[in-house]
Amino acid sequence: MAGYQIIPFDDGAELVIVNTCTVTSATDAQSRNLIRRARRLNDSCRVVVTGCYAQVDPDALHDLPGVSLVIGNEEKQRLLDLLKSEQDSTYVEVSDIRQVESVCLPPLSSFSGRSRAFVQIQNGCDAFCSYCIIPYARGASRSAHPDEILQQIAGLVESGYQEIVLTGIHIGGYGNGLQVPLTLNALVQRVELETEVHRLRLGSIEPTELTDDLLESVASSQVICPHFHIPLQAGDDHVLQRMGRTYNRDFFADLVKKIRRALPSAAISLDVITGFPGETDQEFENTFGFIAELPITDLHVFLYSKRPGTPAATLADQIPGNISRDRAGRLRHLAAEKHRIFAESFIGQELEVVVETGTKRGLLKGISKNYLDIRFAGDASLAGQCVTLKPFSWQDDALRADLVSSPVPGLR
Ligand code: SF4
Repeated sequence: MAGYQIIPFDDGAELVIVNTCTVTSATDAQSRNLIRRARRLNDSCRVVVTGCYAQVDPDALHDLPGVSLVIGNEEKQRLLDLLKSEQDSTYVEVSDIRQVESVCLPPLSSFSGRSRAFVQIQNGCDAFCSYCIIPYARGASRSAHPDEILQQIAGLVESGYQEIVLTGIHIGGYGNGLQVPLTLNALVQRVELETEVHRLRLGSIEPTELTDDLLESVASSQVICPHFHIPLQAGDDHVLQRMGRTYNRDFFADLVKKIRRALPSAAISLDVITGFPGETDQEFENTFGFIAELPITDLHVFLYSKRPGTPAATLADQIPGNISRDRAGRLRHLAAEKHRIFAESFIGQELEVVVETGTKRGLLKGISKNYLDIRFAGDASLAGQCVTLKPFSWQDDALRADLVSSPVPGLR
């Protein structure tokens, strides 16, 4: 690969590229630790830092020992050229990401160690929620050209991938920046009609952008997975308002009930943040009670993290970490219960799964269309294939199942 050989991180490479995340202060710290570890493993290694942390705070990375190059998200595409330019001192190249107007899909045909393939259809965001650094790190909302997306999916299907996941920062904004307007629903329909994809999954979608048309497309499709991941963030209207979110609890509750009516066995998972500045005990209780009543199947709980440069970082009344953690713990417990109840309702039913690579406690792992994690005994050669399983119990936070047939008959 351009004269480079990929080796395990712990072998102490001569060149280490750290692709950073800056969504929380914890991910910033993880990136800095990774850079230090790379230098401990090989004290003469050259470290290149890129990604969102490099984009929003290159100075914080510039001075770390061993860092020779700091490049922004858009500069990643010129990585090989930039690597050739030897500099005497640390070189920083980070352009204004808000000016970028297009999404270039990398020529991917495989994903190392993954049995499902991810296609980025969109990048950036214009919503500027008050707590979120992403619009500053990823730029304005913009979309990949539909022909490029179809071509990439066709190639991945040709390589044997049974499931394609459409990803982006704000996939409901698909169409932004395209010369010929196109919606996410229209794109999904083109993918279904014009490619041989067996399973198509949507990444996280904003509640205000999950349209009736799109819901109808999922409900009537054999290909699109009945799985919706929708950021809620808070179940209290005052907190939602302070966050800069553009819906209220009634809107959200109606949406979830509408999904449940259209797709009774769909996975519906949410994101929620605890400890947003000024979140009172009562506001948290409102969020907790709201989620407890919703017919959802899982919850990703995040602790609010103060991101310099965002409006929320300047708000008074930042919530102490122990209070945020306690609230998160209660929500995670609630999520585990809801997920278990949902998963157990499929015991005895046949489910198609894509088999992941690797084993857990000697068992293979499959992911169902409605995003259930199912463990079963089988041969490792099944990785990447679609098989049919019949769950018989719930154990260690996953369903256990028998293998019914493999591969799935009639696979397109
Ligand atoms: S939370 Fe989501 S919608 Fe809001 S600014 Fe961040 S990426 Fe955009």
